[in-house]
Amino acid sequence: MSLARPGEMFSETRTRRLTAADVGGWDADKLRYGINEIYARGGYDFATPEIKDIFMRLPWYRDRVVIGRSQDEAARHLSPLENANLEFLHVSAKPVYVRPIKLHLAAIGFLFGATIAQSLDADPASEKSGKQCCVCIDPGHPSENNDGGAVTNGLREVTMNWEVALLLCDELEKDGMKVVMTKKSEGEFITNKDRAAIANESDADLFLRLHADAGKSTGFTIYYPRKEGTVHGVTGPSKDVQQSSAAAANRFHTAFAAALEQ
Ligand SMILES: [Zn+2]
Repeated sequence: MSLARPGEMFSETRTRRLTAADVGGWDADKLRYGINEIYARGGYDFATPEIKDIFMRLPWYRDRVVIGRSQDEAARHLSPLENANLEFLHVSAKPVYVRPIKLHLAAIGFLFGATIAQSLDADPASEKSGKQCCVCIDPGHPSENNDGGAVTNGLREVTMNWEVALLLCDELEKDGMKVVMTKKSEGEFITNKDRAAIANESDADLFLRLHADAGKSTGFTIYYPRKEGTVHGVTGPSKDVQQSSAAAANRFHTAFAAALEQ
């Protein structure tokens, strides 16, 4: 004998206590539907027309939809068993908590990897030489100017930079590139002059400095050298380096903006 009413998908939520085994194979849509069906039994007047239409086709709902648009009010018209199942489904439907930063970093790592590959492939000089492309990554801070210890949303900049650098390193190596890092650990102190020296000694095709500055607005910034300057008695960079930096920065900017919009 079926206890289901016409059009009822989950009659068991009315007749017995659900367990983890019941909902183990349910995807987010099914969980959402189960929750809505219980609210529908309580006579909840759905604000979303598409959801309301689904249940208005069912006589057991049509007759009850007088409760109004308060879920608490609808819940008062449900049995304790149904309320317990509702609570259980709500908990089950909560997304598993993943540190959002991890996902973000993975996306950035992938993006940088893809962009650098594209940028270097398009450079006829590196194609001709046939040498393995080399990228020097500089995870920002601590340096003589700043320890990178500022905390935003519970994250220290120096930590962000380091985690992005590690992911980026993986992605680039997977793409067959050589990677040189300016630091060997997150907390390692390197002066800005030494960072530049490491990049120069590595004979890298690209020197990429990672920073994650705090700010009130959204978005991202890419800096590249576009004029000569003199620091510590050294003058540079050359016109060649300025031009190729501008070209790489433009490619980065376009690809990064497109990825963030997705
Ligand atoms: Zn910084």
